[in-house]
Amino acid sequence: MQDLKSLKFFLEEGRDPMYAKDEKPGEGTYICTMCYSEIILKSNSDRLPRCPDCNATFYNEVI
Ligand SMILES: [Zn+2]
Repeated sequence: MQDLKSLKFFLEEGRDPMYAKDEKPGEGTYICTMCYSEIILKSNSDRLPRCPDCNATFYNEVI
């Protein structure tokens, strides 16, 4: 299980571009930080899923 409190703190630091599972970062393409699988969100209300390939929970946005 992820420690959600430390995860939230980590994300609120604002210095790291990573997004986590269940975040709603908005429409766009995201890359798993572990296996580089692409996750495409088609709506601003979509949540990031757990990575279908490696079960990781962190993503970087593709710019
Ligand atoms: Zn992955």
